[in-house]
Amino acid sequence: MIFDSHMHTKFSADSEMRAIDAINRARSLDLGVVFTEHFDYGLELNGKPFAFDAAEYFGEYKNLRGDDVRLGVEVGLRQSARAANEKFIAAADFDLIIGSIHLVDDYDIYYPEFYAGKDKATAYGKYFAQMADEAAACDYDVLGHIDYICRAAPYDNPEIDYATFKAAIDAVLKIVVERGKVLELNTRRFGSVRAVRELVPVYKKYRALGGQFVTLGSDAHRVDAIGNYFARALEFVRELDLTPVTFHERRLEKFSVP
Ligand SMILES: [Zn+2]
Ligand SMILES: [Zn+2]
Repeated sequence: MIFDSHMHTKFSADSEMRAIDAINRARSLDLGVVFTEHFDYGLELNGKPFAFDAAEYFGEYKNLRGDDVRLGVEVGLRQSARAANEKFIAAADFDLIIGSIHLVDDYDIYYPEFYAGKDKATAYGKYFAQMADEAAACDYDVLGHIDYICRAAPYDNPEIDYATFKAAIDAVLKIVVERGKVLELNTRRFGSVRAVRELVPVYKKYRALGGQFVTLGSDAHRVDAIGNYFARALEFVRELDLTPVTFHERRLEKFSVP
């Protein structure tokens, strides 16, 4: 069974998805699920913190947990959140920790303020530099959506463009591989041929450095996004000789791909 190892339910400030609906949808697609709720220390959405009570989360979802349902978290990585993240991760028996860069210089890079007065080289340079710093310093299992910045960056061509940012991206990939962490293949942008094409050299380099495993994650916030573009992602993984995995109690777990 293949796992969708990245999705958000009502414990995330930006989702109202019900866990049972997510599970039923995933089962109809022959997918396992890992819930990865947002814990982005100090960040809010309309006054609602991107944080949740781990005891409440486990209390409510523990009966759902099983062979095809796992309980994880997506922590926002930044220097000012390191101590809080560490404490949060240690407080519960998570299956999977995704570490993600959502803020750079404490700006939410989903919004235009971060990009004001910055050309693409400056903005992306800062993004990858912070990713390398946090990937080296923090506790996580999977480094999330390396192309996250492309979702909202206001440039004509928002793609991460491996040739231009090779040194900065390679630094990130080396840290992930050397620390035995896993790079996520986030399928949120896999509907775009250009987005997929631009990711090829990044994952090729990851493989060349010795990276072998990826988790597949839709980053669904709604039921209809679960497992999106997984057929294309599995093709991508096969072409690059990578192995899709998930995690159980923070241990890597391989699964059979039909
Ligand atoms: Zn994210
Ligand atoms: Zn997410």
